[in-house]
Amino acid sequence: ETKIFDKKKTIDLRKKHIGPSCKVFFSHDPIKIVRAKGQYMYDENGNQYLDCINNVAHVGHSHPIVVKAGAKQMELLNTNSRFLHDNLVQYAQRLQATLPEKLSVCYFVNSGSEANDLALRLAWQYTGHKDIITLENAYHGHVSSLINISPYKFHQLSNAEQSKSVHVALSPDVYRGIYKKDHPDPATAYADDVKNLIHKAHENGHKCIKYLFSICLSVLRDSLFPTHNRHVHKAGGLFIADEVQVGFGRVGTHFWAFQLQGEDFVPDIVTMGKPIGNGHPISCVVTTREIAEAFRNSGMEYFNTFGGNPVSCAIGLAVLDVIEKEDLQGNALRVGRYLMQLLEQLKEKHPLVGDIRGCGLFVGVELVRDRVKLTPATAECQDIIYKLKEQHILLSADGPHRNVLKLKPPMCFSEEDVDLVVEKIDQILTGTLKTLCNCSN
Ligand code: PMP
Repeated sequence: ETKIFDKKKTIDLRKKHIGPSCKVFFSHDPIKIVRAKGQYMYDENGNQYLDCINNVAHVGHSHPIVVKAGAKQMELLNTNSRFLHDNLVQYAQRLQATLPEKLSVCYFVNSGSEANDLALRLAWQYTGHKDIITLENAYHGHVSSLINISPYKFHQLSNAEQSKSVHVALSPDVYRGIYKKDHPDPATAYADDVKNLIHKAHENGHKCIKYLFSICLSVLRDSLFPTHNRHVHKAGGLFIADEVQVGFGRVGTHFWAFQLQGEDFVPDIVTMGKPIGNGHPISCVVTTREIAEAFRNSGMEYFNTFGGNPVSCAIGLAVLDVIEKEDLQGNALRVGRYLMQLLEQLKEKHPLVGDIRGCGLFVGVELVRDRVKLTPATAECQDIIYKLKEQHILLSADGPHRNVLKLKPPMCFSEEDVDLVVEKIDQILTGTLKTLCNCSN
């Protein structure tokens, strides 16, 4: 039985024993959450918070069907995937049913980072070459192989030395990027950037290199990946779609975010994580038979102690059941549209709101001090987040300038929840909300 310490003691022990690189949310005044249900979290005093942060608790915190499935399987058996077990094959079959037919072979792992690292190994083995194209500001994971292809991270290092085999493509951002909404054809311009990167690498002696295109689909813009994909394939590369943040129906119109790019667009490898186990550590790499066979032919066995164990698979199956039974993809579509609608009204009313973007229940609100110069309103963004916390609404900031309010709540988020969040942001921006907080930094 774990003890419930008073908050100060928890903070002190954390300072003493937990690696200091992980920053807590609301570091000026952290909250201590002791339980959660649906889209709500509760602190040690029983206060309820509306959760707009946790996309991992995809079908809602502590969902009884998921909890029961895990507990039931834990009572029976948990072991590694060298034994035959029906949960493993059933789960792979169920996941496959959500994907284009040629994506039919699964590898189960334990985190998004592990999934992306394995995706790179599969692609390296298949293409025989190491070069990678990644997107500006992308994040793909915390292991060494991924820090190298995550500009979001390696740009934070003052002595960062970019590997010569990593090529960073422009982020297809039509608000703050080089080619904006007023450009006659931003999609082609951004795709041409990828074409040029490939061309330049060839010229610099990287002859016959193959390309991997590992991409974070949180950049939900024009349908440009099919063109990227053509350039990459022409150069003999593969396309890896990182669905770790945005998969499992979150975008509302589709189950997978890559499907937003059109019916014909099929990546070579898809990686999944975060929401897949509703908080239980499970992740997956799905690829084609051809790529999987090439990996096997390397001669090295792939074995993962925890990946694909019967408990993880039971939980994964329960998550898929709940998404379907509760029509959570449909809910993300409906509630997400309503959220965008209210946020657009907010944008008309408040000059600080520069851009609203997103899809389903994955939405960003970019704050700027000047709509022409696009000066990032970073401090204002922090201020809003702290004031919302005082109103018991949990939100986080993102983007290279930390000036984007990011909403990615559990998928059971309701229209009433939207009303509350937008009303509070409106009151904060109008300055009518009485708050105790003066903690912008
Ligand atoms: N890819 C993306 C797009 C992510 O957002 C993350 C986590 N933030 C990862 C990969 C890494 O996942 P994990 O933290 O489970 O290793």
